[in-house]
Amino acid sequence: MTHASVSPHRTSDRLRNCVLATVLGLAAWQAHAATGGHQHGALTLDIAIDGPTLAIEMEAPLDSLLGFEHAPRTAAQKQAAQALLARLRQPDGLFVPDAAAACTLKSASADSAALAPDTKAGGHADHADLDARYEWTCGNAAALRSVDLGGLLDGYQRIQTVDAQIASPTGQFKQRLKRPQKVLRWGK
Ligand SMILES: [Zn+2]
Repeated sequence: MTHASVSPHRTSDRLRNCVLATVLGLAAWQAHAATGGHQHGALTLDIAIDGPTLAIEMEAPLDSLLGFEHAPRTAAQKQAAQALLARLRQPDGLFVPDAAAACTLKSASADSAALAPDTKAGGHADHADLDARYEWTCGNAAALRSVDLGGLLDGYQRIQTVDAQIASPTGQFKQRLKRPQKVLRWGK
């Protein structure tokens, strides 16, 4: 005869494992939440090549670019914030696609909620990100195998690592770039 019920011993094992998994999951979540889900000194790029279009989305802890993550308080901070947004909205030399792909910048945007004009100075001290999005139209997008980030890394010394995901017609790639590397490369 088969016995359908689970023994009390097995049940308590399962319960303990379940509780343990929940506690570990919560700890991981808390660690993530403590930094706003981002790591200072890092930034991430989502690179997509679709037909003739190259799109790069950048998400960066504001600290990685600016050194602070609150709304600007002093005149110097206000100036630094404005200079950062202006520079990222005119990204010539910051992201340089492979010359072989013959790409021309089509659009650029950069924004951070912490730097919006109506954000109260010193309003909150949470972590803050900056998001930027760029699009190029390329004469030969299929030839694209690299983006030179030298201008970005030279201009913003706090950036230590760049994690990139690349979705291209030749496949999906994940690349981590660390100083002193400056050129993100993928595929062959
Ligand atoms: Zn932060």
